[in-house]
Amino acid sequence: MNRLDNLLARLATRAVRRYLVGADQRWVFEQPPQGWMPPRLERTSLYLHVPFCRNFCPYCPYTKIPFNIALVEPYTRAAIAEVDWWADAIGPAEITSVYIGGGTPTLALDSVTSVLRRVRERFRVTGDVCIETNPADVDNETVKQLHDADVALVSLGVQSFHPRHLAMLGRGYLPHVAERALALLAESGFASINVDLMFALPGQTVGDVTADLARATQLGASQLTTYPLFTFPYSSVGKYRRLSAVGMPDLRTRRAHYRDISRWCAQQGFERVSVWGFKQGAVPRYSSVTRDGYIGIGPGAGSHLPDGFVLNTFDFNSWIDAERAGRTAVALRMAFAGQMSGWWWLYWRLYDTRIPLDDLDEVLGQDAPKARWWLRAVEQAGLAVRRQRGYVELTEPGAFWPHLAQNHFALNYVNTVWTQARREPWPQAVSI
Ligand code: SF4
Repeated sequence: MNRLDNLLARLATRAVRRYLVGADQRWVFEQPPQGWMPPRLERTSLYLHVPFCRNFCPYCPYTKIPFNIALVEPYTRAAIAEVDWWADAIGPAEITSVYIGGGTPTLALDSVTSVLRRVRERFRVTGDVCIETNPADVDNETVKQLHDADVALVSLGVQSFHPRHLAMLGRGYLPHVAERALALLAESGFASINVDLMFALPGQTVGDVTADLARATQLGASQLTTYPLFTFPYSSVGKYRRLSAVGMPDLRTRRAHYRDISRWCAQQGFERVSVWGFKQGAVPRYSSVTRDGYIGIGPGAGSHLPDGFVLNTFDFNSWIDAERAGRTAVALRMAFAGQMSGWWWLYWRLYDTRIPLDDLDEVLGQDAPKARWWLRAVEQAGLAVRRQRGYVELTEPGAFWPHLAQNHFALNYVNTVWTQARREPWPQAVSI
């Protein structure tokens, strides 16, 4: 995107969000007011961020620090203190799902087990525990620890089985390591094994992508999550691209990859469960981002509360200090105005590709007619259909647009907030 395109995209986004959500919504993350506390909650989900990585992939935007065994113990203590802080603040809520991501959670599984124990002591956990794993760390001991921690759903971040693409991504392992890890997880009795695979990589063909999907399926993946390479400005993929002089696939190529992935998955009996995810059979769906509300534990972890978003400080030491001092590690908050919470819900239902029409009134209140009007327009444009009573489902071409919106969202909103949050432990304010 050149500068003019960027400016136009920004102006269009501002106009759309003002039209949908209204003028009262302030699109600013600010320091929470003195003494800020979250509302009491009956039910929510929980995200645990484990920030350690052994190998820094050049495209990666997530909050991470180099793995150092000496940091695991302070991390564990601070994470347990943060679980206690949230439990005191929101009450002994029902936790309907636990998602453990990073970073590389498999580098600190003893720590994960201890934090999960505290979560179970302080809350009523009724949903599945999902975890991200890295192929380089998966062995029999890992599998045993995951079962001991009652983890049900596992995601393996393979990204590609192709040596050239793995090298370009700087993943630090060879294809046979990813294949061995997947085969081991698949035979180890977890309820679902998701495999993350990337598409639209520089120089990647549609044949490369479908070969990766086929290999993952052959080795026992029950869900495939395919996503394009996000080029966050502060990641070093930009540098790689300049060094290698390899062009990123254009929108047409990305569209072709996306269409072929969707077709391949449909032919192999995979059902679409989100814009990027496809699952086979009756296994539970693995999902990282579509929960309606969650509390976040760990440096850089976000929480989605009924009245707004909050973000912990991204700086590891500042996060540890805050937890040690019994203060909240929340550094930034964006309060919701009007029906913002409902529109956010609808955004993620579009990401799910299935929108339950009967819930619109309750979730969007006075804005429900506006949402219905837009959904009808989407149907009339052939981007959605009603296969099941009470639901609008996006078609394959329809699903491509939330995929683009997701890309835009990641590049603009997430990038803006995360760039600032990585520069300063406690930023004053970040406008998006
Ligand atoms: S992609 Fe995963 S393993 Fe690579 S640096 Fe990011 S968090 Fe670490």
